[in-house]
Amino acid sequence: MIKIKAFGGYNKIGKNMTAVYVDDDIIITDMGADVEKLVDFEGDKSFISVKDTTTLVENNVIPDDTDFFENEGKKVKAIVLTHGHLDHIWAIPFLADKYKCPVIGTPYTLKIIENQMRNVKLRSLRLVKLNTGSKYRVSDGVEVELVNITHSIPNSSIIAIHTKYGAVLYANDWKLDNTPTLGRKPDYERFEQIKAEGVHALISDSTNADQDGYTFSESIVRTMLEDVIKKTMDNKTIFITTFSSHIARIKNIIEISKKINRHVMIFGRSMDMYIRAAIDTKIIERGLIPTVAVRREQINELLKYVRERPGKYVVICTYVVICTGHQGERGAFLDKLTTGQYAYRLSSEDAVIFSSRTIPTPLNIANRDMLQKALESSGVNIADNVHVSGHGSKNDLKILLNMLKPKHYVPSHGGISKLSAGIELSKDLGYELNKTAHLLLDGQEIELA
Ligand SMILES: [Zn+2]
Repeated sequence: MIKIKAFGGYNKIGKNMTAVYVDDDIIITDMGADVEKLVDFEGDKSFISVKDTTTLVENNVIPDDTDFFENEGKKVKAIVLTHGHLDHIWAIPFLADKYKCPVIGTPYTLKIIENQMRNVKLRSLRLVKLNTGSKYRVSDGVEVELVNITHSIPNSSIIAIHTKYGAVLYANDWKLDNTPTLGRKPDYERFEQIKAEGVHALISDSTNADQDGYTFSESIVRTMLEDVIKKTMDNKTIFITTFSSHIARIKNIIEISKKINRHVMIFGRSMDMYIRAAIDTKIIERGLIPTVAVRREQINELLKYVRERPGKYVVICTYVVICTGHQGERGAFLDKLTTGQYAYRLSSEDAVIFSSRTIPTPLNIANRDMLQKALESSGVNIADNVHVSGHGSKNDLKILLNMLKPKHYVPSHGGISKLSAGIELSKDLGYELNKTAHLLLDGQEIELA
């Protein structure tokens, strides 16, 4: 018997958590936060500890597994993680401990959790590093495997749960990038082998299931960035904002800057955290990355230096009050810069490149508008949306379904309109609603025969 229970990530983007039942064993996949709610919650608190777990659940910041744990917690054999975005892992230090089972993920993902555990002063989780391409036996009848996939953070994977009924694949989040600028392309060979062994079900990211066509490669963004940086240059200081966990993007910006003889500075606490984790897990070389400035005095000092040398620097920083649902930062660098909180006034001598996209929630739009007005009034040169998504589009999803030929398809990560778009496109491939394609919402469960 295979049963899927949705805790989070099906009604809206964020707070991902799913339980996969294989007879009497249960595997939990992902345990994340609703990042929008997390930002609100963090705004009221200077420090979140594991003691806050109940409040986090009550405020819908993390999934509510209270009844599930009480009734079926003992059956949980492993918690397996796809990648290190906060809407997939942030709840781990708060919810995972009580299950007394291994927490399995790739080295980069676990390094981020280790950092987070230190922040909430938790020591006791059993973290099991599993490289992509490797398997781990969690019970007599179940093995889990992480298969290499591309996304917008290093070391991302699709989880394959191998059972006597065939494999259950949990694919949250992914894109098919055949020319990635960091890491390897998706492990198509392994997907073919798993298909040959039989795929019972595929649970898949639907974030862009309503977008026609394909999602472009990160190598395209690299070309776009190089072009925009060169066009913008003149004698301007360039500020580039991007996602702090997007290590490939950051690496590309540094390499492009070096090519055009610009020095690079990186600002921001979250930049520091994700970059350090990437260095520690040997994803990038220490020598490539300049030290990340975190403290205000340090940033002010460096900004003074930049101000005195116009046209010599590229500054990588975060803006994004709330962005893609996997990263929220209130009062990030660019926000503070435009509101006069640093010793640097933006002017027509500067350029700002947004290597990111604002997800159109009302709050994001309002914040972005405010920032835009502030930037325009300072006369700064602006380039927006130098970016491609980390999520596969409609045609990519069709490729994945064709490649894996799952018996059952369950769209996840999106919200009802995105999940419906997934169901709709699967019809072209012969899937039928309620027979082989299933609409599952948070709190619901479904047995897949
Ligand atoms: Zn993600």
